[in-house]
Formats: sequence, C-alpha cells, structure tokens
Amino acid sequence: MKTEEEINEILKILKNEYPAPQTELNYETPFQLLIATILSAQTTDKQVNKVTTELFSKYNKPEDFLDLTLEELAEEIQGVGLYRNKSKYILKTCQKLIEEYNSQIPQARKELMKLSGVGRKTANVVLSCAFEFDAIAVDTHVFRVTNRLGIANSDNVRKTEEELMENIPKKMWSSAHHWFIFHGREICKARGPQCEECPVNHLCDYYKEVK
Ligand code: SF4
Repeated sequence: MKTEEEINEILKILKNEYPAPQTELNYETPFQLLIATILSAQTTDKQVNKVTTELFSKYNKPEDFLDLTLEELAEEIQGVGLYRNKSKYILKTCQKLIEEYNSQIPQARKELMKLSGVGRKTANVVLSCAFEFDAIAVDTHVFRVTNRLGIANSDNVRKTEEELMENIPKKMWSSAHHWFIFHGREICKARGPQCEECPVNHLCDYYKEVK
C-alpha cells in the first residue's frame, strides 16, 4: 500500500494533468443528472449527451416522463445501451420521485439507492456532482486505476471505495474521482495502459511489477 506522501504526490500530479474535475455528462438540474447517470451505464458520456440533448429539450421533470409509455421512452433513448431496461428504471424512478419525494431528488445516499436503476455508484455521482457532497463513485476506471496504482488493493468495488475514503483526504474525494476517470480514459486504459507516457508511473505498483 502507498504511503500518505506517495498518495499526495499522485494526487498532486493528476490534479495538474486534469485541472477541471467535472463530469462530462451534460445536465442543468439534479434531476437531469440523475437521468443522465442512469443512462450512462455501459455507455459513453458522449453518447449519453447526444441522447439527452434531444431528450431534455422535451422532458425535464418526472411528470414529463410519465406522459410517455415504456415504448415511447425506449424509442427516445435507443441511442444508449440497454435502453429497454433503462426505460423501465426511469419511469419507475419518476413515479417514486413524484409519490414519495415531491418530485425532488433526495440528498441522501440511502434514499437515492431506493430509486430504480440507482446503485451506490450512481448515488455517489449525484451526491458529489449535483449537491457537492464529498463522495467517491467507484466506476470501472476508478477501480482499475486506483488498484493498479496501489492506492487501493481489492478485487471488490465496495472495498475499493472504503480504501479510497481512508487513503484520500475527504475534501479531495470528488475531484480525485474525476482525476482517476480521466486518467483511465486517456492513459491508464483497460487494455494497453500507456505506462511509458504516464506521469505517475514512478509511483505505480503495476508499472513496477511489469517493468
Ligand atoms: S503507470 Fe501504467 S498502470 Fe500505472 S497508472 Fe500509469 S498507465 Fe496506469
């Protein structure tokens, strides 16, 4: 496991590399971010943005979505993967938001996770991006990059999140989450990480091992 000093050095370097730590999903309201994040499972943010540009120009709140049938919504979002399942999740979520949350997005992880299609990762994204809570959403990039670097050491997403919360200062959780995502997309790719070009290779466990 890394020392505090090494982790701080990694975070400092990544901060310089990726100075704008924000989600690449386009949204204007917490509700839009929730829908965009549900749509983003197994789909690129770019593709989600293509679909939501059109979608949010017509439907902007839970009530608007409930005017649609399952088939109509599926047609609206068919540009993203698993669109049939996601249509079901979105309609159920909108129904629950209206019935139990006065059409507002709850600001607690436990409540968010009661919504259809919302797991811990999605809840953390909404909490940190829409409401500025400190949270680390562990997606596939965060999981891979942090375990390769040695900031986490687990084959389990939940345990990785716990280790990251332990090893990274709380005020940096949300930003660090974005730095790891950008690094995973651009350099530390799942197949063929570009280790020779990586600015944190001197601090990386995986690199030490393969080198
Ligand atoms: S050195 Fe390689 S494995 Fe380590 S963080 Fe950089 S790209 Fe990823």
